[in-house]
Formats: sequence, C-alpha cells, structure tokens
Amino acid sequence: LREDTAVVIVGAGPAGLLLANRLIQEGVDCVVLERHTRAAVEARARAGVLEHRSAELLARHGLADGMHAAAAKHGTCEFRRDGTRFTVPYGELAGGVAHWVYPQQFLVRDLIASFLEAGGDLRFAAEVGELAEVATERPSVTYRQAGEDRQRTLRARLVAGCDGPKGVCARQVPAGARRVYERQHEWGWLTVLAAAPPSTEHPIYALHRRGFAGHMLRTATVSRYYLQCVPGDPPENWPAERIWSELDARLAVDEPWSLTRGELLETRTLEMRSVVSVPMQHGSLYLAGDAAHVITPVGAKGANLALADADVLATAMTRYLRDGDRAALDAYSDTRLPAIWRAQAFSRWLMELVHAPADGDGFAAQLQRARMDELRTNPSLAAWFAGQYVGA
Ligand SMILES: Cc1cc2nc3c(=O)[nH]c(=O)nc-3n(C[C@H](O)[C@H](O)[C@H](O)COP(=O)(O)OP(=O)(O)OC[C@H]3O[C@@H](n4cnc5c(N)ncnc54)[C@H](O)[C@@H]3O)c2cc1C
Repeated sequence: LREDTAVVIVGAGPAGLLLANRLIQEGVDCVVLERHTRAAVEARARAGVLEHRSAELLARHGLADGMHAAAAKHGTCEFRRDGTRFTVPYGELAGGVAHWVYPQQFLVRDLIASFLEAGGDLRFAAEVGELAEVATERPSVTYRQAGEDRQRTLRARLVAGCDGPKGVCARQVPAGARRVYERQHEWGWLTVLAAAPPSTEHPIYALHRRGFAGHMLRTATVSRYYLQCVPGDPPENWPAERIWSELDARLAVDEPWSLTRGELLETRTLEMRSVVSVPMQHGSLYLAGDAAHVITPVGAKGANLALADADVLATAMTRYLRDGDRAALDAYSDTRLPAIWRAQAFSRWLMELVHAPADGDGFAAQLQRARMDELRTNPSLAAWFAGQYVGA
C-alpha cells in the first residue's frame, strides 16, 4: 500500500505533536506515525516542567488552554546542604516570569486532541521500520500497522524524525555525514514517581555526602523524586523503605520538616547521558527533539528543546512547501544548535553543583561548597542561573 503526503512525522511525543499541530494550522498536509497506542502515549509520565518560553510558544499557537487551566506556576527553587537551605526566586530575578508545572503526558494528550480536532492524520500502533531515499527529494517511510501482516509505505517531500533517543530516523544519516558528540556522566540516578502530595512549595535540590536528592513537583497528589546512585545500580536494589529513608536523610534540614510518603508508582534507573548529533538534518530528513539530542533531566530542558526544535522546523517546512523558499530549512541545524549546546552546558553546570563527587574526593567537595555559596550570595550568578533555568 502506497500513499503520498507532504510531511511524514515519525513519533508522537512533544516534538512530533507540536510540529504536526503547527503544520496543520498552516495548511500543510502531514501524517504522524506512532508505534504505541494512544492510551500508552497519553499515560507516559516523564517531564513536568515547561519553561517560560515554551509556555509562550504554546500560547502563541493556541495550544496552551489545557496548561493554562491546570498547571501551577513556579518561580522559586530551593537548595539544601548540611541541614541548611536557601531559596532562589528565579522567576522574579528573570523579570517576573515562571515555570509551568504541567506533566508531559497532559501536554501530549492536549496536542493529540487538538491535532485530531483539526482533522489531522495520526496513526497509532504504527511502527516505522525503515526510511528510503532520504538523501533525495522523494523520501519514503515504511511502517507496519499493528494487526496487519503487510507493510505500508508513505512517500513524502520531507520526513521529520521525532522518534526519540532510540528511534530509527537518526540511524538513516550515514556515519560519515554526521558527528555524534556524547558524554556519559559519572553519576547514576534513580527516578521515582509516587502518589504523594508535595512536601514542599518549591522544587528542592539537595546536596548530601551520600549523594544528590531532588524533590520535584508534578500535581497535588503526585510527586517526583530523584536519588543519585551508582551508575547501573538496578531498581531492584531500591525497595520502598530504602528509597524513603534515603530521601529523608538527604533532604533533612535542621528545622521541623518532614517528607510525606505515598505509594510508589514508578521506579527507574536512568542512564545519565548527553548526546548531540550534528547536523540535525540530512537530505529530506530533519531530526527534532530527543532524536537529535539527549539531555539528562537535570535542569528540565529535554521537552522544552523538543518543542523549540519543532517550532523552528514547522516554520521552515512551511516556507519551503508553500513558497519554495529553502533558506530556513537549510539553516535549521545552525539555527537550533547554539541553544541546544547552551542547555547542555547549563545542565552540566547544575549537575556539578548538586552531585556528590563520584570519587569522594575532598577537594571536589570543597569546590562544590564554594560554588553553592557563590550562588547563594552573588546576585549576578543568581540572575544568570535564573534566566537559564526558567528559559526567559
Ligand atoms: C524522568 C524524566 C524526567 C524528565 N523531566 C523533564 C522536565 O521536567 N522538563 C523537560 O523539559 N524534559 C524532561 N525530560 C525529558 C523529556 O521527557 C524528553 O526530552 C521528551 O520526551 C522528548 O520529546 P520527543 O518528542 O523528542 O521524544 P519522545 O517523547 O521520546 O517521543 C518520541 C515518540 O516516538 C515514538 N517512536 C519511537 N520509535 C518509533 C518508531 N520506530 N515508529 C513510530 N514511532 C516511534 C515513541 O513511541 C514516542 O512516542 C525528562 C525525562 C525523563 C526520563
């Protein structure tokens, strides 16, 4: 079975769905292929923090109603160390803006609904197997719809690889045509989602000699926690009691404060890896979001970068397909890469600030204290942190 469209979008995550919504708004024909079912995609909990500029972007395109109705706005975060704590009012420091705390699965649900309401073609349970002729102007994408034996092929003028870090699209770029910058960070993370109301008004980053602990906000009844662990430590090593007592110890302050416990909904160990693939395009194939670059959750940038990539790509694809103007499409990688590297730099800076040195080196620990004191006492550094963190 063969069909034609203007743009095939592989993957219905934040990148693919924002791109699809923008293209349909511009009257550009596109098809989204997503290997999971709608229910699975709408239930996948990951990010929760949208930057100020992502919120503006969604509002600009009429895609922020759900977020405006249900998200909480936050402009302060808290750092803890050795029983002490201090807050940074980053929203105020960045000029009166805020983060929007809105779970990624809610945003994905909203973007699916708006695309389908606009008459969009989104095929769930459709797994892309291969791409062909991506170096030419007539690329094609072959996929298999769940329950069918035969494969289907879509021919397009452009393909958007929005299929996340383990997708098929990035592999279509010949090794000689791209450079992959990769860093395996020296810390491991256990990520925990629990049915527990937040024990804090602000996200907490706690530095402890046993390792970093984070308490992030999601909703009134669900919270996310992070614990630094040995890289590769399996989740089975972390039964519920160990998780809660370790969070208690690492988040402790020398004043009345307690952590509210709840049922653990998800416990995973995370590979703390950063990747940037350069360029983010090859022939008619354009990569966006985690398909092009992976960033650790430190600093909460991944979904935000995915939305920003998709926004730039939507404008560029529209100009090409509607007006025949290739300039923005040709410049896509160069347009996006500086912001992607800045996010990587900020995330690494924050990682070094809050993680216990992997080698237990006393010198490194003292440097870390000095850095945290600097953030607490130096208004210029706090202002820089604020702008980077909130994405002003
Ligand atoms: C624990 C955790 C916390 C995080 N917290 C934050 C945060 O607070 N803020 C933030 O900005 N980011 C955060 N992130 C990162 C964020 O979740 C990702 O960066 C984001 O999901 C990237 O979006 P994407 O659309 O590029 O890719 P994805 O969301 O991965 O979407 C890719 C889609 O492609 C589909 N797909 C893959 N292969 C195929 C195929 N062969 N055929 C068809 N479909 C395919 C997948 O099923 C998926 O639906 C966090 C991540 C984790 C793991």
